[in-house]
Amino acid sequence: RVNALKRYKILDTPPEGAFDNVARLATQIFKVPISLVSLVDAEQVYFKANIGMGKAKFTSRGVSLCSLAVLKQQVTVFENAPEEPCLLVNPNVAGSFGLKFYAGAPLTTHDGFRIGTLCVIDKTPRPFSADDELILEGLAKIVMDEIELRLSAIEETDKLQQSNEELSAINEEMTVINEEMSEKNEELLQIQSSLVESNQQLAESETALQLAITSAKLRMWQIDPVSKSLQYNFVLAEIFGYESPVPMTYEQAIGQVAGKFRSVISDEIERSIREDKDYDMIYQQTRFNDGKVIWLRSVGKVTRQENGELASFSGMVMDITEAKEDEQRKNDFITMVSHELKTPLTSMNGYLQMLTMKAKKNEDDFLLNTIDRATKQVGKMTSMINGFLDVSRLESGKININRQIFDMAALVKESEAESIVSITSHTVIYAPVERTIVDADMDKIGQVVQNLINNAVKYSPAGTTIRVACETIAGNARVCVQDEGMGIKQSDIALLFDRFYRVESAEMKSTSGFGIGLYLCAEIIHRHNGKIWVTSELSKGSTFYFTIPICTE
Ligand code: ADP
Repeated sequence: RVNALKRYKILDTPPEGAFDNVARLATQIFKVPISLVSLVDAEQVYFKANIGMGKAKFTSRGVSLCSLAVLKQQVTVFENAPEEPCLLVNPNVAGSFGLKFYAGAPLTTHDGFRIGTLCVIDKTPRPFSADDELILEGLAKIVMDEIELRLSAIEETDKLQQSNEELSAINEEMTVINEEMSEKNEELLQIQSSLVESNQQLAESETALQLAITSAKLRMWQIDPVSKSLQYNFVLAEIFGYESPVPMTYEQAIGQVAGKFRSVISDEIERSIREDKDYDMIYQQTRFNDGKVIWLRSVGKVTRQENGELASFSGMVMDITEAKEDEQRKNDFITMVSHELKTPLTSMNGYLQMLTMKAKKNEDDFLLNTIDRATKQVGKMTSMINGFLDVSRLESGKININRQIFDMAALVKESEAESIVSITSHTVIYAPVERTIVDADMDKIGQVVQNLINNAVKYSPAGTTIRVACETIAGNARVCVQDEGMGIKQSDIALLFDRFYRVESAEMKSTSGFGIGLYLCAEIIHRHNGKIWVTSELSKGSTFYFTIPICTE
């Protein structure tokens, strides 16, 4: 019963008009001063409506007659309470309140629990008929209906409140999400604006690059690794002999290259892609429109994506036809001049020999001496001219390596015999000189040895020692020429074997030369699959080495 009462959420709640109205109606119908709507809890009796009993909101269950009234299904009536033996001790009856009349109808819930009463009370005794009881019961029903209605209203409100709460929770979440969204939006906006900015910068640098490419007439190309198609710009199309860049595959482009360069070029491109190496080639090509053969230098580089996959192979082409033609003209000129100079030198040599014979006959020592010097000068001149001829022969590909099997030691010993006569300014020591058999061009290797010894003489002070050695080391014949001369700066060493390179220094001003000796040596050694190099320390001396493979047959 108490649980049923709790269900209605009505205990200890403020007065409400509907209940007051019923209670007031009851006082008017029955003409009594007091009427209560009471709810009987476990310990207390609460007055939901109280007409005529002051400000009392509840009373203890023990003193309340309503506690008795809820025990019965019917209306409980005491027409004259002091006459009821069971109520004699009730303080409301016995005390100053002086209760005489009480009639209470139970408030019965739809499921049969009596949770309270509607009662009428008087301080004077009075009769209460069966009709009166029916009316009171009817009013009690109205009160009960009101309680039920009230509950469903509460439940509605609760439900509303709950869904309101849920809604506001959802709202709150939405607000948070909204805030996050707007934050993200802002970030996105920022990213977008920086993207726009970098895009602009990219576009600007792209324009600048294109401008630079166009104004410098840079001929650019790019090979797509997947489609193998070749992209190139207008100025490069011009070289190929087209009016505009017609679509072309990589193979077609290679097809334009002069036959003898074709396989070298595609090998080089493949190697450069495979090994991530820079590509740099000089080759000839026939121009499409007029058939002119032109010289090109093409340089390229591989670019890779972040995952290491090939992105593109691109580079540029330079037309070096003019430079090549200039070089050719220069070479032709040098060859012509050298040939022209050789003829008078040969006759001069003949005349000098005749003079020597005559001077010997006359035993004219002064004349002999002078003729000897003149002969040496003619010799120097001849070897210089021969050097030039060698360079131009080399560059026009006319130099031939005539191999024969010989002992390198024999060659070095020949040079020793010669130097004993010709070199008086320096001590030349030949040690060790080991037997080592090679398959090489004896004359040209001899030329290299002689050149290195001559340089040692030229670039070290008189009175110092020059050491020449010939050994077999790791399958190679190695010859070295060591001097105690001026030495070579580290920065010069890399360029020493280049054509026409001479070290620039005060000492060098007094020595003659064209800087072709070491260039020729390097070319000759490289054509023998050998190596040539130098180690040197400034003002202490230099050691030149070369190796060529020994003959194993
Ligand atoms: P050239 O002697 O006619 O100048 P080379 O090609 O023989 O030409 O030599 C190139 C340069 O290398 C020389 O000009 C000289 O500066 C330097 N050089 C060659 N040999 C030596 C050496 N033994 N000691 C110092 N410098 C040397």
